[in-house]
Amino acid sequence: MASLPKTMKGVIIEKTGGIEVLQYKTDLPVPEPQEGEVLVKNEFIGINYIDTYFRTGLYPPPSFPYILGREGSGTITAIGPGSTYNLQPGTPVVWMGTSAYAEYTAVSASSCIPVPGSISLRDAAAAILQGLTALTLIREAHRVRRGDWVLVHAAAGGVGLWLCQLLRAVGARTIATASTEAKRELAARHGAEVLMEYHGEDSEAFVRKVVDTAGGEGVEVVFDGVGKTTFDASLACVKRKGTMVSFGNASGAVPPVAIARLAPNNLRLMRTHLFGYLTTREELETYANELWDFMTKDKMDVNIHKIYPLEDIVQAHQDIEGRKTTGKLLLQP
Ligand code: NDP
Repeated sequence: MASLPKTMKGVIIEKTGGIEVLQYKTDLPVPEPQEGEVLVKNEFIGINYIDTYFRTGLYPPPSFPYILGREGSGTITAIGPGSTYNLQPGTPVVWMGTSAYAEYTAVSASSCIPVPGSISLRDAAAAILQGLTALTLIREAHRVRRGDWVLVHAAAGGVGLWLCQLLRAVGARTIATASTEAKRELAARHGAEVLMEYHGEDSEAFVRKVVDTAGGEGVEVVFDGVGKTTFDASLACVKRKGTMVSFGNASGAVPPVAIARLAPNNLRLMRTHLFGYLTTREELETYANELWDFMTKDKMDVNIHKIYPLEDIVQAHQDIEGRKTTGKLLLQP
């Protein structure tokens, strides 16, 4: 640690709230890697919608001051004691964890993986969390098969564009929603076959159109990261024995659901979180390798909306919450 600085740039919150709680600092202590951790000097930091949930308090931060952010890529600069999966100083890595909005993060070695030479640090940071979310949704939450009809909401967003591309790659047929024409066109360029506006006032017409498009019975699965405003219509679009997967709350949390609503069509209802599919090193490595393969062999686009300097964090949060973005937002310290 001798050559490391004592302080670093980073973004903290000391309470939950609006964008005004985001504080850019230049004198945060550089963390020391503890048992099983490595210290990463972050080159790129990914922004995810979940960062706004921790900022607002929808998901309560465990303590304050709290450094937001769940993923980054960079170079290992120090190794803590204990088992660190043979990770070495100087290795380029991508990681998922906490405290990403900073120059340095002490990361659990178990969730830190070397970046293959064929993929840049920028693309690795842009891909890992949202790409793995989409990949595990189509493999685990509902195993999508060739020819399946699938409804994807917020299809031009970070997770959404990965879903469109992966679903095309596995031969599924995607009905995509997004709020603007430009976003819907982007989803189409990434594989969505049928484009729709959200249901607005007339959810019955929306459901009818989705069901008709999907051959009259409904879709095999809905991947819904929008939450409160789309849940009811989404559930009504699922065919007999199909699956409704709710994986996010961009419009607010879904209120409690009466289980009896699943009975008429023998539906499955899932509420997933990525890390529940990546609890072992083997699961992480298997899915990451599959994602790298999709990116290189199928030439998937990482869709970087913008790379913001870390000090522009307020603008970045305003943009993602204001629905002004498509694809991935990155920060650079
Ligand atoms: P996005 O880039 O998709 O941004 C959110 C998008 O949601 C917006 O661009 C917007 O697209 C749409 N949206 C719909 N209603 C609203 C609203 N009222 N306010 C704001 N946005 C709205 O973000 P991410 O890709 O990071 O995340 C997408 C979803 O997936 C989030 O709910 C997130 O929490 C969830 N997620 C869940 C994970 C899990 O493990 N369960 C992991 C990763 C993400 P449009 O303008 O087209 O409507």
